Amino acid sequence: MNFSSKILEEAVHQVSQLPGIGKRTALRLVLHLMRQPEQQTDALSKALTDMRHDLKFCKKCHNVSDTDFCEICASHNRDHTLVCVVEDVRDVMAIENTSQYRGLYHVLGGKISPMDGIGPQDLKVSSLVNRVKNDEVKEIIFALSPTIEGDTTNFYIFKQLGDLPVSTSTIARGIAVGDELEFADEVTLGRSILQRIPYETSVKS
Ligand SMILES: [Zn+2]
Repeated sequence: MNFSSKILEEAVHQVSQLPGIGKRTALRLVLHLMRQPEQQTDALSKALTDMRHDLKFCKKCHNVSDTDFCEICASHNRDHTLVCVVEDVRDVMAIENTSQYRGLYHVLGGKISPMDGIGPQDLKVSSLVNRVKNDEVKEIIFALSPTIEGDTTNFYIFKQLGDLPVSTSTIARGIAVGDELEFADEVTLGRSILQRIPYETSVKS
């Protein structure tokens, strides 16, 4: 790509560093930004700079936060005895969107994956164990993806919790709402049968 301006070339280069954005798309986006009012591009630059410099991670659950402790951990309306363990910040957002959970979270920052070179020491496991030891945690809910890596991570944490007085549970795995039974895979269907719930419970939820 031949640019008549170094400034334009640099802007396109930077945008093209984003995942899934090629040079052509980057050029289209940059040209779009050029046509926007200056105020708007300034606001975009500021939002990105603020995000990079000022965004913090909650000292308790490692969720993103503007303050030392995130809004969820700081809230008195949440159940501080329940901690839901998730892989990353997107999972917190997904569960919050359901409006079904009133406990706290613990963001691990990934899952154990030897293929990707991620071991237990790369995850926030010890701080979770410390929370169980020092806070009023009564139940840990594993909400990692139902994959080999997710299961390995759950099991590792379960072992680390040892004899600590805390109960552990895992989110239900089964047929998705709206799915046809005949198209479900055997593992999912099998689990759904084994982990069946009382009909009354299913009507309430
Ligand atoms: Zn927090």
